[in-house]
Amino acid sequence: MRRIYDLDKQDIVPSHLEILLWQKMPERSMSPRITRLMDDAINLFQDLAKPRALVEDFEADGFSFLYEGKGMNAPDGPVPFIAGRTDATALMAATMGDDLAVKCSELFALGKASLGYMLNVVSSAASERLGRHMCRLFLERLRSESGELKEIKVQYYCPGHCGWHISGQEKLFVALRPDEIGISIDSNWVMHPLKSISGILAAAPIEIHRFRQGFSFCPECREHKCVERLELLETE
Ligand code: SF4
Repeated sequence: MRRIYDLDKQDIVPSHLEILLWQKMPERSMSPRITRLMDDAINLFQDLAKPRALVEDFEADGFSFLYEGKGMNAPDGPVPFIAGRTDATALMAATMGDDLAVKCSELFALGKASLGYMLNVVSSAASERLGRHMCRLFLERLRSESGELKEIKVQYYCPGHCGWHISGQEKLFVALRPDEIGISIDSNWVMHPLKSISGILAAAPIEIHRFRQGFSFCPECREHKCVERLELLETE
């Protein structure tokens, strides 16, 4: 099944805490000025975001070919192990549209760098939320089709993370064709619009999604998203 979603932007507006978390300062006490800046950026985000998504069911036994990409993955990435043990898998791409990046550039050009920076952070925090939202939508659909999925959790895994080289976007985009919702990649496999996500949605028991840092590529990782994403999944 292939399905396009026009998403409700309220589902992906990040909270103040998520915005601070994205900047790696969740403990920071918020001055009235910072609070106002975040609220202004959130208001702009609500005006400009146009979230859309595309999800297509995918047979897990085709994943090795897709994952192989251009042969640049780390040898010890966890994603093939997970994808080989799913109850259901889908390819996914989602975007918030181009207007956010255009507005950020405009704000910087107008000398409003603080607001431009904060809008960029809000959009990035919203991308994280968008990934979780896509997981929930996929799980809801699976549950509506089969009532026996209480123990299943959906996590998303993306090229460019955890050993899956960013060049993996090439085969993913050939298979999914997200140009239908306005997402393309350039010669460096960077998505346009910039505030877009892509990858696989993997439905499996929670223990399949549990992995720890310690892979050969973890020392170069700047985001360490595995920790927060797993914590969220454990509590959902
Ligand atoms: S630290 Fe976590 S998110 Fe980063 S590469 Fe390692 S497993 Fe992936």
